[in-house]
This record gives sequence, C-alpha cells and structure tokens, in this order.
Amino acid sequence: MATVNPPRGMRDFLPADKARRERVLAVIRERYRAHGFDEIETPVMEEHARLHAGVGGDNEKLAFNILKRGLDADAIRAAADDQAELSDLGLRYDLTVPLSRFYASHRGELPTVFRSIQIAPVWRAERPQKGRYRQFVQADIDIMGDATSRAEAELITATLDVMDALGLAGASVRINDRRALDAMLDVFGFPESERPGVLITIDKLDKIGPSGVAAELRERGSDEAAVAAFERFLGSLPAGGGDFGDERIRAMLPAGVPDEIVAHLVGIGEAVSAARGTAPLEFDPFLVRGMGYYTGTIFEIAHPDVSYSLGGGGRYDGMIGRFLGQDVPAVGFSIGFERIVDLVAIGEGDAGEAVVLVHDRDVPLTELLGHKARLVAAGARVRLEQRTKNLKGLLARAEADGYTGFATVAAGQQDAEVKPLG
Ligand code: AMP
Repeated sequence: MATVNPPRGMRDFLPADKARRERVLAVIRERYRAHGFDEIETPVMEEHARLHAGVGGDNEKLAFNILKRGLDADAIRAAADDQAELSDLGLRYDLTVPLSRFYASHRGELPTVFRSIQIAPVWRAERPQKGRYRQFVQADIDIMGDATSRAEAELITATLDVMDALGLAGASVRINDRRALDAMLDVFGFPESERPGVLITIDKLDKIGPSGVAAELRERGSDEAAVAAFERFLGSLPAGGGDFGDERIRAMLPAGVPDEIVAHLVGIGEAVSAARGTAPLEFDPFLVRGMGYYTGTIFEIAHPDVSYSLGGGGRYDGMIGRFLGQDVPAVGFSIGFERIVDLVAIGEGDAGEAVVLVHDRDVPLTELLGHKARLVAAGARVRLEQRTKNLKGLLARAEADGYTGFATVAAGQQDAEVKPLG
C-alpha cells in the first residue's frame, strides 16, 4: 500500500507552519513591490528541451522529467536510452529558465526595463538532507533590459531591504564578476579549455584552502606554470575586511584585469552606499557560483549567524537571446526562502478577531449558520466546535491555534456574545 508520507525531500505544512511561511512571504513580496518589481507567474513545467539546453549546469541533471502520456511498455523499452524520446516535459529546477522563456514570449507587452518578482516552488532530484529539499520555494527578483550597474544596485538594495525587514540585519553581499574570474585565469595562463574545471576547483577555496586548491589543480593535470602563478597570487593577498572600493578590488586582483570590470563593481558599491548609507559589500575574487549561464556580476548573501549563503544571483546576458534570437541583458537575485524562513523570528501579525463558536449538539443548523454568518460579516474568523465535556480543553486548543475569543450557543438563543479567550 502507498505510504501516507509525502514523497522524499518534499514536505507537508501544518496550519501554523503554513501561516508562518505566508507571513515571511508577505514581507518579502511587500518589500520587493516597494522597490518597483511586479509579480508574474509561470507554469511549473517547461518543455524538456528547454530545461536541457545546457544553461542549467548541474541542475539539469537533477530535473524531474515527465514521461510522455500514452507510451506503452514496448515504446518505453525501445526508447530506453533516449530521454528526449520518452519525455517531452519536466518540472522547473529554477525560476530563471522559465522567466527567460516568459520574457521572450511577452516582450511586446512588457516595459523596456522589466522588473519581475517570482515566488514559487522548484524541484530538484537531490539527495535530501537538512536544509536541502526536492521541492523548495525560491523568491526571485530579476531585471531585464538594463545592462548598467543600476540593475545590480537595485537588486542588491531591494534584497538587503528584505533582510532588514525580516530582522536579519547584518546581512552582507559577497560579489564578484565572471569576467574578472576569466581575466584572472587568463593572466595566470590557464588555457580556455581548462577553465570550467579550474573554476570548479577554485569554488572549493573556502573549504580546502589555497594549498588544497593548488593540489587539486595539479591532480587535474593543469598547466604547472599557471598553477604556480596562481598559488603565488593566493599567498600575496591582503587580509579580509576593508572598505569596498576601487583600491580594495584592485588589491585583490592580479594586474591585467580590465578596468571596466573593476569600474562596474565600484559603481554598484557607490550606488548601494548612496541608497543605504553604507555598502555592506565584500569583493570575493574567488566567488564562482555554479550556474553555467552567468556572464558578468555574481553575488551571494552572507549573514554572520550562518555559515551558508542565504541567496544568490548574477548577470545572465546570454540566456534570453537563446529564446529570442536577440540578446537582452538580464540580472537576477534569488532568496533561498527555505533557509531564511527558519532563521526569522516573526510575530503573529495582526490576524484580527478569531472566534470559536461552541454550540450545543441540538442547535438547529439554520440557527447555527446564522450566528456564524453574523460574526463573519462583523469581520471575525469563525470556527465551529460542538461542545464537549472538556470545554476547557477545547478552548485551550483553539487558543493555541491563534483564536482570540469564544461564544457559546444553545438552541433558540438570540445572540452569541463573544468573550475573550485566555
Ligand atoms: P541556486 O538556484 O542553486 O543558485 O539556489 C538559489 C538558492 O536556493 C540558494 O541560495 C539556496 O538557498 C536555495 N536552494 C538551492 N537548493 C536548495 C534545496 N535543495 N533545498 C532548499 N533550498 C535550496
């Protein structure tokens, strides 16, 4: 018999959990909207070919593919090795691929610079563990049609504003640029064909340290002169901290990285600083972020209370062009909702009056629903409960569920007077 548990890595939410999640989502949505972003919705499924177009990086391997309808066992056996033959659709593994398709499809109906909000579940067939699910909610903002640092500055200020509104003050943004990474690897002499693999190793710097990275690069068979130059550079870097700005960024990059990349980053810092009074940005020349589609700035949110990132994003100027045949600059920032929802201390909010209407068994249904309708019309939330011997227990349970008042009704009673609970 089928189990009553949800599928592995997916969760049910009890009313209290669901209410809490919705309160956090409401704060995120409200702050995003305050910054001029507009919410859209896209289907949970996309065409198989679109989800496997080579832009989703490792996430493509984690996609849940959907079997074509009406395939019989012979057809499945015959096509066993051919995913595209078996599957025409899949569940989205992020919100960026659907957004790019959405933009290509609706461009004529959208403003030249379009600021979108998408808050929705995505699916990845990962090995479930704490904080890592197979269905999870992402909260994304994206700006399409703006190639300047204004877009990054708006995304970063809006996201930091959300963190403040959720009581996660102290959040900061680690920032880098894929073009800076590429220029750096070029300066050290890593041939272009090796760079994707080299980036995977550099991404582990936080975990395995400079000597670990150098050792792994040698194991990979990377060019020895390039590895040695990179190792020397790692050893020469200034300590962490320091104000974000031209001087700091240049001190953390080898000579030869183009000025325009540094200027783009400096411009973002200045704008965020003007908006917030300070710019909680940290330049991290080794921040990689895995997604294959990033083409420029990349960033992650860090918070002193946790060792993992609370969200991330970057510029993906090439992706819409794949669907539209014409490049459109785009940059996005995704909040890892599941990771912040547990961190946030958020109150009940003002849910208004909530009344439990306790009725005797013999109250005629017409009378009972009449009482209920009057209370609902007066603005209360109303739950019906038939009186039990343990009235105290019944009321305690209602109070725990967030109810604020109760009324008792007997057959023939005219008015249901509401008294406070607790
Ligand atoms: P990504 O699309 O991989 O860049 O992820 C964006 C954000 O989603 C990350 O910062 C994580 O916080 C969150 N995230 C990624 N994978 C999972 C997962 N399996 N379960 C829960 N949250 C996730």
